[in-house]
Amino acid sequence: MRLVLLGPPGAGKGTQAQILVQTYGIPQLSTGDMLRAAIAAQTPMGLEAKAIVDRGDLVSDEIVSGIISDRMDEPDCANGFILDGFPRTIAQAEALNHMLDRKGLHLDAVVEIKADPDILVKRIVKRAQESGGARADDNEEVLRKRLDVYVQQTAPLVSFYANEGLLRSVDGMAPIDDVTGAIKAAIGGS
Ligand code: ADP
Repeated sequence: MRLVLLGPPGAGKGTQAQILVQTYGIPQLSTGDMLRAAIAAQTPMGLEAKAIVDRGDLVSDEIVSGIISDRMDEPDCANGFILDGFPRTIAQAEALNHMLDRKGLHLDAVVEIKADPDILVKRIVKRAQESGGARADDNEEVLRKRLDVYVQQTAPLVSFYANEGLLRSVDGMAPIDDVTGAIKAAIGGS
């Protein structure tokens, strides 16, 4: 199964992706995690991405499309994957369609986790406190920027994927298990 999880920062994409990894035995491909690993390892890509990620902007479509395409070629992706944090722009969604075409693959569903922005701010501030400030971009100012970037650049993907007949929307404000149940029901049969 090949899924995309779509939703604003803090909507629970990462939490749900980890549960779906266990259920379906396919890996989570998180561009945020990959970029943070590259930044921590100080690779050339990490050094280029650091300032951009820290201020809540998006790194270039070429960089993230390249890392995702390479990652999909790893053996553990043979039976599918869960994309978390990619695509984030229409250009990335088009790049994804092209790379899947080239690989002879297709998406089964795009799950939109809908969330209330006011509650997201509280959730992320809490995540920052619990993780001891592990993420430089989890502070209120950068968070506002990331939510703004989501509305401007990522939210248009909802109608993009609705047009492709792939969109399934679930309420991300429900308890974690209920959200998981709704996602499984929404993708059931794919
Ligand atoms: P969240 O879901 O909490 O917003 P992520 O871990 O998905 O956070 O991403 C953190 C940061 O990594 C983003 O704010 C952005 O700077 C960068 N990033 C992640 N994915 C992409 C992407 N697909 N395109 C561009 N930048 C990305």
